[in-house]
Amino acid sequence: MNQKHFPFWPKRVPKELVYPQTPLFDFLEVSARRYPDQPGIIYYGREITYTEFWDSCQRLAGVLADMGVKKGDRVAVYMQNCPHFSISYLGGMRANGVVVPLNPMLVDNELRILLTDCEPKAVITTTELYPRLKGICDELGINNIIVGALSDYVPEDPDIPVPDFISQVPSSIEGTINWLDALKDAPAPPPVEVGPEDLCLLPYTAGSTGVPKGCMHTHKSVTSNVMGSIYWANGSPSMVALAALPFFHVTGMIHSFLAPIANGGISVYLTRWDRTAALDAIEKYKINMWANITTMLVDMLAAPDINERDISSLSFVGGGGAPLPAALGEKFNKMTGLQFAEGYGMTETISQTHWNPPDNPKLGSVGIPVFGVDSRIVDVITLKELPIGEQGEIVVNGPQVLKGYWNKPDATAEAFTEIDGKQFLRTGDIGRMDEDGYFYIMDRVKRMINAAGFKVWPADVESTLYRHPAVLEACVIGIPDDERVETVKAIIVLNKDSVGKVTEKDIIAWSKEQMSAYKYPRFVEFVESLPKSGAGKILWRQLQEEERERLKK
Ligand code: AMP
Repeated sequence: MNQKHFPFWPKRVPKELVYPQTPLFDFLEVSARRYPDQPGIIYYGREITYTEFWDSCQRLAGVLADMGVKKGDRVAVYMQNCPHFSISYLGGMRANGVVVPLNPMLVDNELRILLTDCEPKAVITTTELYPRLKGICDELGINNIIVGALSDYVPEDPDIPVPDFISQVPSSIEGTINWLDALKDAPAPPPVEVGPEDLCLLPYTAGSTGVPKGCMHTHKSVTSNVMGSIYWANGSPSMVALAALPFFHVTGMIHSFLAPIANGGISVYLTRWDRTAALDAIEKYKINMWANITTMLVDMLAAPDINERDISSLSFVGGGGAPLPAALGEKFNKMTGLQFAEGYGMTETISQTHWNPPDNPKLGSVGIPVFGVDSRIVDVITLKELPIGEQGEIVVNGPQVLKGYWNKPDATAEAFTEIDGKQFLRTGDIGRMDEDGYFYIMDRVKRMINAAGFKVWPADVESTLYRHPAVLEACVIGIPDDERVETVKAIIVLNKDSVGKVTEKDIIAWSKEQMSAYKYPRFVEFVESLPKSGAGKILWRQLQEEERERLKK
């Protein structure tokens, strides 16, 4: 083992690190006291001051408590990026609840499965998404539904392009509680009954079995990564963040709105990614911090007017969730004079566990373990630690690691392994560490497709495909894609009766109706049979490798 360039081996983490002992929403309360009149949010030109932001959270907490939300009750939040989201998120926690952020792309059965699993006491959504929830909430007996309109906070004279659909949706819906009315007449918030060890967040990740799993995060686990983000990215109240990553996802929530709140900075929200709006916002508000995902960066750098745009205010740009091709990083660095800081993490770790030091990044690497994280590389089979440079599964221990999966003790037990008396989370990613302690992602043990940062779990897609009457067998694989980095392909064996009657296009069209936009197969191929192991398991990796080889030619 060469220790010359890496004198800190083995990494020593003090046993008693002290993490913030306050509930997560204290960041907002303190910023509201420190910077009462400063905008915490800017939404297409509408400024929401820290005072209004915190007041709205307290009011919503009062409304939720009045509905019967008590300590530990789940509050589902199903919406796109908008002020209602962050108010519901912190307001739900202020009501002593556990917030369940739901991907706004989810449809029908996907939503039913999650809502059945988390059993929310209340659901908060927006008018354009409510129709998808209505039937399911009736079915599950969820009666407390608060509905806001995206237009609630859009000013009459927006200063950056507003997505068309925002003004087209109704501002209230009969039979539901209207957001603005509810906040206006809200009762006082309940007393704070939660502390650092209490659950506050239950983000879902789909699982290798196709059954989604809720990741149990406490106020402390989320708070520690918010603090970590401030520390890493040189946070200060002069931070102006571009908040374009989806808020329901951990990277979006930590870097797009929680870190700016904790800094007392400004967060400029975009409901939907639009490079013109993003570039306008950077110029207008002198945005200095932008956490993104590869596809956004590719899209922005391809803007025809990018060279005429003034993006010189940007001082910290980084991202994660999907690999950043080194050539893209180089292009960005050359164009801006900045150094892109790629990071790595999971829903299970509420965003980053590894991050490139902003002043000393290595392109192609996901960086070094962040403050408080102990990360090692282990043999995939024996789970024994491997020496520097060898490839194996990445495992992590740190304050941001989940407490376990909601109602899934077996999955929780399988997710961890013990090293040196400490519990490490198995990431399912294959990586290596270099002599300077930087980590590199090489492959995956887990069967997951990373489509533009959206994680698609083949077993989940396959279980839906099996509901199609013509499908006898299905195997879903990830194939390379110019735009989405990876995309979804289904290899299908049809029932005898359906051969010649059902086409690939039929299956794609049907899948589009049954699944979220990010996960339905973009490619379908019919075959006569699928390769299987002696035990009868479909050899998905073989199919995937063969397809990748074929595409290379
Ligand atoms: P999620 O739970 O949606 O946040 O997905 C977590 C997974 O995204 C990780 O286990 C990795 O497979 C992948 N991922 C996250 N960051 C990166 C990165 N910088 N490069 C490559 N893959 C990444």
